Amino acid sequence: MSEYRPIAERIKDSRPVELRPAPEYLSVELGRCQDCGIPFCHAMGCPLHNVIPEINLEALHGRWESALYKLLETSPFPEFTARVCPALCEGSCVQGLYGEPVPARLAEYAVSELGFERGWIRPLPPLRRTGFRVAVAGSGPAGLACAFALNRAGVSVTVYERDRRPGGFLRYGIPDFKLDKRVIDRRIDLMEAEGVRFRMNVEAGADISARLIGDRYDALVIASGARRKRDLPVPGRELAGALFATDYLSAQNRVNSGEADSLPPGFSAAGKRVLVIGGGDTGSDCVGTANRQGASEVSQFEIMPEPPAVRAPGNPWPQWPRTLRTSSSHEEGCRRRWNVDTLEFLPSDSDPSRLGAVRCREVGWSSSGGPPKPVPRPGSEFAVRADLVLLAMGFTGPEETPLSPGGLAAPPGGALGDRIYAAGDAARGPSLVVRAIADGLECAAGVLADLASGGAVARRSA
Ligand SMILES: Cc1cc2nc3c(=O)[nH]c(=O)nc-3n(C[C@H](O)[C@H](O)[C@H](O)COP(=O)(O)OP(=O)(O)OC[C@H]3O[C@@H](n4cnc5c(N)ncnc54)[C@H](O)[C@@H]3O)c2cc1C
Repeated sequence: MSEYRPIAERIKDSRPVELRPAPEYLSVELGRCQDCGIPFCHAMGCPLHNVIPEINLEALHGRWESALYKLLETSPFPEFTARVCPALCEGSCVQGLYGEPVPARLAEYAVSELGFERGWIRPLPPLRRTGFRVAVAGSGPAGLACAFALNRAGVSVTVYERDRRPGGFLRYGIPDFKLDKRVIDRRIDLMEAEGVRFRMNVEAGADISARLIGDRYDALVIASGARRKRDLPVPGRELAGALFATDYLSAQNRVNSGEADSLPPGFSAAGKRVLVIGGGDTGSDCVGTANRQGASEVSQFEIMPEPPAVRAPGNPWPQWPRTLRTSSSHEEGCRRRWNVDTLEFLPSDSDPSRLGAVRCREVGWSSSGGPPKPVPRPGSEFAVRADLVLLAMGFTGPEETPLSPGGLAAPPGGALGDRIYAAGDAARGPSLVVRAIADGLECAAGVLADLASGGAVARRSA
């Protein structure tokens, strides 16, 4: 189990809340790994297929360097997943059948940090360059993983990123209290030392045209994420005080890093009653951020039912357990409600242009064949006071960009068209860091295969 800094202390700053696992704890916990004949954690749980039982065994016996090399065989950025992965592997751990799973994520945390401290993780530039050039649009985990793998294979890679600094949602979505941004900087420094070139503040398709990319590069990988935000088109939506969660989180991250001097007007939760709409991880990040900003109270409403405390019969092991999760941010102070639909944003009494309350209604769920549908509960309407509403209802898909008019739809790693590939959320829709990394690696393998077969180059000169 993770250990966290005390709430009274951590709520006053934006430093990471989770403590590095103690070796004594791991030496007991990793001893519970069964080294299963069929390791579901590795084969089914982990999208990267990390050889978790082997890593655990090496770490258990203090062979940390060997554990690291086993980890790096499949995972290019274990320092990211060690901090933010929901640990799909642990959901399929055999120990989790009757108790707590083996904490594979914490083992990854210990192994990867030792790797940096002891200098085992260092730049490994390719010995020879192939002469091939690839452009990657987007520097989130998918773009970074793809660039990493192509570069290690000797391809000259340029990453174009429209934002000021690399990392995608790692940097501008996930709060510092979950992921210290120095962890990203450390990795970017390594990649630059290995030869990857980063071009910031450049929107591929706009600042550099698709045609120019086509002339300069043998292939283009689009790793631009799935950032079309899901809105809540209810009456009163235009009132000041309702923000998209990612705008809100990114503003705070930019202040923390010194990229911005202060929050934009209306973005601070200080002294405000905050309502987060959407019960997922992004919503939880808003809860933690609002409490750090000094919100007077924080609530989080979700339209779906409250997940069960233990696996439902239709959700057996080794599937990912769809059970109730309480994050470190929830523990810091939050009133949570489920089965709540939002009907209307109401103006404040003192300023009719500003939000003052939200009208809601409870719903049940019909299960008469087909996908479950929300059914209003008669007489369940209620209103809550709210000065700041954060919309954390996820994303509907990739944005329309000059590179991808109409958005993208491609199988992860799949070629989209002539010398154009897609990876990560841009290809599969909104997902997880670990899946974005796995997609980036798979895409790189596809590009390399095409380059090696001469396909991409032949098409280039055609
Ligand atoms: C608030 C929040 C918290 C999250 N927390 C977690 C978590 O704890 N654990 C987890 O596993 N997942 C989490 N996720 C999901 C995870 O961050 C994403 O699934 C992942 O970042 C997707 O990676 P990506 O590389 O495909 O896209 P992104 O991270 O979205 O990166 C895309 C990048 O492309 C850039 N870009 C877009 N268009 C262009 C262009 N034309 N030219 C150049 N650059 C361009 C964007 O600026 C961006 O930097 C979270 C997401 C959010 C929003």
